[in-house]
Amino acid sequence: MTSDCIFCRIAAGELPAEVIDRGDGWMVFADIAPAAPTHLLAIPTRHVSGVATTVDGDPGLVGDLVGALAAHARRAGIEEDGYRVVINEGRDGAQTVPHLHVHLLAGRRLDWPPG
Ligand code: 5GP
Ligand code: ZN
Repeated sequence: MTSDCIFCRIAAGELPAEVIDRGDGWMVFADIAPAAPTHLLAIPTRHVSGVATTVDGDPGLVGDLVGALAAHARRAGIEEDGYRVVINEGRDGAQTVPHLHVHLLAGRRLDWPPG
């Protein structure tokens, strides 16, 4: 737990969030500023700063997060229309919260390539 990290505080229940799902070491909640009709974030409940740290750490962690989002997409009926999973990493990747998170975006036709 990093006390100045907003996602650690959400994981600890200190900050409110619309929690969608929880599992062993991860949780899924709604993004506070949705960029699509469905916009969820999957995070590890322990502090991990970004995807680069998984290289030397737990290589299955990102799979758990993506798997949780894909399972939600199936349950929620958005698998057929499709969706996007995104990890923004570091400055050039436009990461704004330095706690690993995977976005799920769905519910509209998304542009590619991103800006
Ligand atoms: P990033 O740009 O780091 O990939 O994405 C961070 C995301 O976290 C953004 O989409 C932003 O809207 C979301 N976010 C930032 N602060 C909060 C918060 O306090 N609660 C929730 N639910 N989402 C947040
Ligand atoms: Zn954190």
